[in-house]
Amino acid sequence: MQLRPIKKLMVANRGEIAIRVFRACNELQIRTVAIYSKEDSASYHRYKADEAYLVGEGKKPIDAYLDIEGIVKLAKDHDVDAIHPGYGFLSENADFARRCEEENIIFVGPKHQHLITFGDKSKARTAAIEAGIPVIPGSEGTVSSVEEVRAFADAHRYPIIIKAALGGGGRGMRIVRNEGELEEAYNRAKSEAKQTFGQDDVYVEKYIENPRHIEVQILADQNGDTVHLFERDCSVQRRHQKVVEVAPSRSLDEKVRQAICDSAVKLMKSVNYLNAGTVEFLVSSNGEFFFIEVNPRVQVEHTITEMITGIDIVQSQILIAKGYGLHENPILIPEQKDINWYGYAIQCRVTTEDPSNNFMPDTGKIMAYRSGGGFGVRLDAGNAFQGSVITPHYDSLLVKLSTQGLTFEKAAAKMLRNLKEFRIRGVKTNIAFLENVVKHKAFLEGKVTTSFIDSTPELFV
Ligand code: ADP
Repeated sequence: MQLRPIKKLMVANRGEIAIRVFRACNELQIRTVAIYSKEDSASYHRYKADEAYLVGEGKKPIDAYLDIEGIVKLAKDHDVDAIHPGYGFLSENADFARRCEEENIIFVGPKHQHLITFGDKSKARTAAIEAGIPVIPGSEGTVSSVEEVRAFADAHRYPIIIKAALGGGGRGMRIVRNEGELEEAYNRAKSEAKQTFGQDDVYVEKYIENPRHIEVQILADQNGDTVHLFERDCSVQRRHQKVVEVAPSRSLDEKVRQAICDSAVKLMKSVNYLNAGTVEFLVSSNGEFFFIEVNPRVQVEHTITEMITGIDIVQSQILIAKGYGLHENPILIPEQKDINWYGYAIQCRVTTEDPSNNFMPDTGKIMAYRSGGGFGVRLDAGNAFQGSVITPHYDSLLVKLSTQGLTFEKAAAKMLRNLKEFRIRGVKTNIAFLENVVKHKAFLEGKVTTSFIDSTPELFV
């Protein structure tokens, strides 16, 4: 097999995920390159790389990390062999992956065709149907008139959900509970989609009440060898955005777990998927499961899968991109039947948001910072240290706190103890809110669905 050399790797991202990738590179003896916007001149990720370059001068803070040609040029100018896109920003941008391929820079991710298929949720749905994976009853492709949506609702009954085809991050979704709400919801969904994602394509699905969000971690190499690393339960969500994740799920019947994991592998094999990806499902209260989307990249919550399997997903990504097979040295993932998980892991997303003010992002200088730690604890942080200035320009994730225990109860106790150990002054955080979540009876009993947070007012006090 032809291996491609990776001596130098650039991360086209910022914050904790950039640092996460640099750490993987350091262990693989790969030289690291950061890019940073003007606003990120003092950001920690800049200093964690061997080299760092300013990108997107004169552009808006977010646009700096979306500057495809600027980033490709920096990579060429500095002899970068590979680019890891992290999550968000350009990670699902097919043009960026294609430009890297054209310039002979390794894009650490799938082929750009996969990003085209999975970047558009309605195309992804079609791929799932073709692979024989159960999907939520929905429109065939995108819808182009309110009448089409009405006809769908008449056939399938309310509630329904209108979703932006290019949506992500829990945005671009509208639940419609009755005919009276339909027209306005449709128009709003379209204009929001246009505004947020630059394109107003929307599609419709039946809205599943109180489901669980279960997702399967996949790794695939260029030989078509594809394995799953079990599932994560990401049902603890606020407004369709994940807040706390658990691996493995505690609520799945063994047969359903197996069927979901097998379906995920089947779908990814059917498109000849390459590298790391996640297949997301909703599971209804009676154990029926439905595909919702594929995230063709590393995810924020990959940490907990690493903790329960011992498999380094980011290193695997880089080594797969180099050309190694999954079971070859140095990736060394066992055959599927021999991949095991051990104990339970939980991740909390600690953000600089104010729960008492509708989770508005808070900004300012961190005057004091002390984190938890100890056995079975993992911290993945960006600008989380005393003196760091939290700006309003980027997302509000401050540090990912993950804990592992032999049982779920032990992992949860460790999580609570760690949350309590944190001392952060100068910016508001969601820590007290997270404490309320992880000590809540429903969470401890493994009974939460995606409506848990939004329907549990006592979490907010
Ligand atoms: P995003 O890409 O924005 O994360 P997803 O399609 O993954 O969007 O959905 C995010 C969340 O929205 C899901 O975990 C679930 O809580 C909710 N959701 C999406 N589609 C449906 C549906 N058809 N029925 C019920 N909830 C849904």
